[in-house]
Amino acid sequence: MDNGKEKLGIALVGLGKYSEELVSALQETKHCRLAGVVTGTEVKKEKWKNKYDLPDRNIYDYKNFDSIRENANIDIIYVVLPNSMHAEYVVRAAAAGKHVICEKPMAVTVDECDRMIDACKKAGVMLSIGYRLHFEPHHLEVMKLARQKVYGEIKTIEAAHSLSNPAGWRLEKDLAGGGPLMDVGIYCVQAARYVTGLEPIAVEAFEGSKKNKEKFKTIEESLTWRMEFSNGVVADCSSSYSKAENYLKVEAENGWFELSPAYSYRGIKGKTSDGKMDLPEVNQQANQMDDFALAIMNKRLTPVPGEMGRQDLKILQAIYHSMETGKRIEIENEQLALH
Ligand code: NDP
Repeated sequence: MDNGKEKLGIALVGLGKYSEELVSALQETKHCRLAGVVTGTEVKKEKWKNKYDLPDRNIYDYKNFDSIRENANIDIIYVVLPNSMHAEYVVRAAAAGKHVICEKPMAVTVDECDRMIDACKKAGVMLSIGYRLHFEPHHLEVMKLARQKVYGEIKTIEAAHSLSNPAGWRLEKDLAGGGPLMDVGIYCVQAARYVTGLEPIAVEAFEGSKKNKEKFKTIEESLTWRMEFSNGVVADCSSSYSKAENYLKVEAENGWFELSPAYSYRGIKGKTSDGKMDLPEVNQQANQMDDFALAIMNKRLTPVPGEMGRQDLKILQAIYHSMETGKRIEIENEQLALH
């Protein structure tokens, strides 16, 4: 399928807002190209076909999607659908013998993640999650500062990522799996994991009061939560659908470092107790897709595998469990940290 190609062909599944971002990033990749699309909307078929010069045979809908198996132009399927649809389409992509990138959150339950990982293993294809910040210089610098203990041992972490005015499927629990935690709070969970290099041993979460009970009928409008790590570090996090917050702050024994804004596609800025971080701006999604293509070509592991997405889901589920019961929830970590 991918043998000897200079660029691997990617098919985007679900042509919404984020696929628009990804298709422009694809123009900047070195090792990938847009090879096809999967959409349920007729007008998008024509629009994408003309705009990106796609042959008819590389345009699919959700019904004939499985016949993508016969299409040698497509090496990677990139699932960019509402969260509760990720599991089905990753499993079908694997059954079609294609490598898969799945957007975050990987799915809406850990059981779904297990099915997705198993399906990819069985099919002998690679699975990665769309964690673009693992390919962004400020986040790589934060990982390095923490790992090399440049400012000594980490003491505390504060992280917040919020979004105002969500709409559509994001407000429906059946499609989204939850509210801002699933959508943007997940970045804080990720950051706490890669700053500490550890897995949380317990979480405690509190739902914020709802200002708009009708709009947020099935999901939380906002929440705060604490993640506890085995070395005594705590990460205090928050996420909301009614304000704009976007930072990561790390206090260490002999100094501090922070990113603000921290999780945006562009314009991430960093500071340390010694001054500004002077790092280049990159196309995160282009780097992420190129890295996956290289992982496939060179038969090496991806730094953002399905197992990482599964671990995040496990933590998100524990946070919801705490929020709903009012209890501190301990997390059993059966696997080693994946960093
Ligand atoms: P959009 O609502 O903009 O697009 C989702 C697309 O999915 C739709 O346009 C539609 O495409 C398809 N779809 C199929 N069934 C449904 C349905 N029942 N309801 C709604 N859409 C449906 O969402 P986003 O692009 O913002 O998000 C998609 C995924 O990407 C999510 O998992 C999200 O978390 C993730 N994401 C990741 C980001 C990141 O930075 N990594 C940023 C933004 C989103 P069509 O008409 O072609 O069938």
